[in-house]
Amino acid sequence: MFVSMVMASNPCPHCAQKTFSWWDKYLAGKWVLLYCKECRGRVSAQPIVLAVLYFLYTWDVVLFGYLAYLDSLWYLAVLAGGWLILDFFSLYVPLSPLRPAGGGTAPAQKPADSSQDN
Ligand SMILES: [Zn+2]
Repeated sequence: MFVSMVMASNPCPHCAQKTFSWWDKYLAGKWVLLYCKECRGRVSAQPIVLAVLYFLYTWDVVLFGYLAYLDSLWYLAVLAGGWLILDFFSLYVPLSPLRPAGGGTAPAQKPADSSQDN
């Protein structure tokens, strides 16, 4: 399991080489920018999907935090469980290619987000 966490098994959206590990994807789920080892391309998690996920994080904390305040501290355990589930889903947020930093040229190619390949 740990080996598969560090093994590069997720393809780069620029060059399609499998240069990103699951740990990289976890970090991408925390709004961290990734850099491809092969093509030096900048990659982030799909920001719209990530925004939805972070809405759910907020909802998780607010709802169960409120229930813990009203009712029982056991809701804090539910809150933590929900957080872990959302962390799990954050591994499956698709990666999206970014333009090189400081390129300065026109934003020519939009990601053209057609294929949400798994
Ligand atoms: Zn690449």
